[in-house]
Amino acid sequence: MIQISVVIPVFNEEESLPELTNWISRVMQEHGFSYEIIFINDGSTDRSWDIIQQISEQNQCIKGLNFTRNYGKSAALDAGFKRAEGEVVITMDADLQDSPDEIPGLFQMVSEGLDVVSGWKKERHDPLSKTIPSKFFNGVTRWISGIELHDFNCGLKAYRKKVVKNISVYGEMHRYIPLLAKWNGFPKIGEKVVQHRARKYGYSKFGLERFLNGFLDLITVSFVHRYKKKPMHFFGSLGSLSFLGGFLITSWLIFQKIYGLSKGENVREIVDQPLFFLALVAIIIGVQLFVTGFIAELMTSSQSKEAEYKIDEEVNFYK
Ligand code: UDP
Ligand code: MG
Repeated sequence: MIQISVVIPVFNEEESLPELTNWISRVMQEHGFSYEIIFINDGSTDRSWDIIQQISEQNQCIKGLNFTRNYGKSAALDAGFKRAEGEVVITMDADLQDSPDEIPGLFQMVSEGLDVVSGWKKERHDPLSKTIPSKFFNGVTRWISGIELHDFNCGLKAYRKKVVKNISVYGEMHRYIPLLAKWNGFPKIGEKVVQHRARKYGYSKFGLERFLNGFLDLITVSFVHRYKKKPMHFFGSLGSLSFLGGFLITSWLIFQKIYGLSKGENVREIVDQPLFFLALVAIIIGVQLFVTGFIAELMTSSQSKEAEYKIDEEVNFYK
């Protein structure tokens, strides 16, 4: 039986891998944990995959998956989750910014009954261009999800095995795994302050553009999550509102006409304002488009967003 699976997405991290592997193995041995480390090479263009293959020859606990191209961190985590066999699954970045010394503490918190334990980089060693948007992002995510975490996007997290076997991580959703867990029936979510270090080698792969994509993913999945079982609650309310608006405006126009006629005015002006009708039509078309978009979203969300990645090679899995 494996106690801990460490799942590590890798995109061009050749310099860090040997040091990281030695460090994790040392911690595991010191604490007597049975473990596996699963590296998912996410289409690196450097020697990362060669190095993963080399170190997996020396240690059978080290396993590797090689994607055919770069599919993103979420896909990499998803592939690792599907393969993980440990009772507790711990995710960690490959760049040595997360410390393997946190593993025993995270393992203990999950063993004591939590579904998810999320790291909190309280003293964060990243540039302001990352930390400021991140503060904003965390505030909005707390507000939308009702989950009181400070650092949703921390790469260092621990899960009960059952949790990772019951969620699919896609798009830029790696930032929102605690939400996926909660929505899928695992609400016991805890937090642990963890050490964080500046990037030693290479460069960060996440900029503002991916941040925005993540936000759009959050909005879509929040809506889909909320309305997929009862779409009428959403479409119905929106439709009613639009209908009511149209009804009130029309009633008002008719009233004006009758009132004007009764006073013998020429009322053509009031009723035939072209701008007014254009606005009305625009509103209706807008609502229709919105609704159509969401119907499409609802219909495709369950199928097409899962397991879009392709695995090319693997090492140490069936031994
Ligand atoms: N990563 C990945 N695929 C990508 C981008 C990043 O697997 O397309 C991995 C990367 O190798 C690292 C982790 O995701 O292990 C976090 O990336 P990074 O350190 O660049 O993010 P940051 O710490 O700057 O937010
Ligand atoms: Mg990093």
